[in-house]
Amino acid sequence: MRTIAIEMTGYDFESRENFPPKQQIANTVSLIWALMERYGITANNLFGHNEIQLNKPDPGKKFMGLIRYLIGAKALLENNPHMNELVFGNFLRDEFDTLHAVNRYFKFVYDYLLMISRPVRVYEWEAVSGFWFLNDLLDNRPEGMVLGRRFTPPISGEYSSPGRSFISPENHEGVDLHRTEMDKAFHVVQDNQALLTANGSCVHIGDFDGCTGGKLVIFRHRQLSGSQVLSIYGHLDQAYDLKLGAEYPIHYPIGEFRQDQEHTDPFLHFALAYGGTWESDLKKRTSIPLNAGASWIRDRYLNPFSLMSGGFGSASVQYPVT
Ligand SMILES: [Zn+2]
Repeated sequence: MRTIAIEMTGYDFESRENFPPKQQIANTVSLIWALMERYGITANNLFGHNEIQLNKPDPGKKFMGLIRYLIGAKALLENNPHMNELVFGNFLRDEFDTLHAVNRYFKFVYDYLLMISRPVRVYEWEAVSGFWFLNDLLDNRPEGMVLGRRFTPPISGEYSSPGRSFISPENHEGVDLHRTEMDKAFHVVQDNQALLTANGSCVHIGDFDGCTGGKLVIFRHRQLSGSQVLSIYGHLDQAYDLKLGAEYPIHYPIGEFRQDQEHTDPFLHFALAYGGTWESDLKKRTSIPLNAGASWIRDRYLNPFSLMSGGFGSASVQYPVT
């Protein structure tokens, strides 16, 4: 009398490999939709088994995030007043502003998933859902955010990371990039510029209290898949005149990296994080916790070179890849 349960074939939907195929997702959405319509069930009464019985892993957080997203998207497409009320009605406040309610619904889907899950899972969910493309339309930005189609190293010329690398030592979330001896010998002009790794928008300019100090700049990038990542440039002597929220093209000069007492060479601290890491962590605090450790870092950061397509300058990468 209280609950209608849907059993699905498959297991471990939280992993990439076992995520249900599109047709199975579509069938499930249609079934949920029909049941909502027949019995007047509101979208906030849709639960994954794991959300009401906490020792259950199925169907997983990412899957429920996708179902909630698709139910919202289907309501927008069908524009049936009865269903709109069931899906978005809970997000209407005193005033009857439906667009506001729609925005709040989708914001809830993202915020809730980020709160109960991890940025790496949200990153995978962004690609299967296409969340940010819809978000642009709802924000009345039909042209959308500039796409980071290609990622290149943030330093021109040859560089290496002889010291701190990704999770080496264990509490280091980025790589410290130094110019190679070869590069120093053959380049007359030593520019120590940090260059933007891909097209993206500037989300933060400030001081860096992690790793090695200096100035810190963070950019957000949207990949072709629809997932977002952050590129992080630390240990800068100075940041150039950048505007928060503005979009900049790949290779755009961001600032100059610096030298400190410990090191004879200037170096750039460079990290790549999953987009959700901004909301979950970096917005509040730009350095990682002292006891973060490898698994904490892997939930939030990528190996900085995992997205690089190379082909920029004479970059020869000499860092240990983990
Ligand atoms: Zn560093």
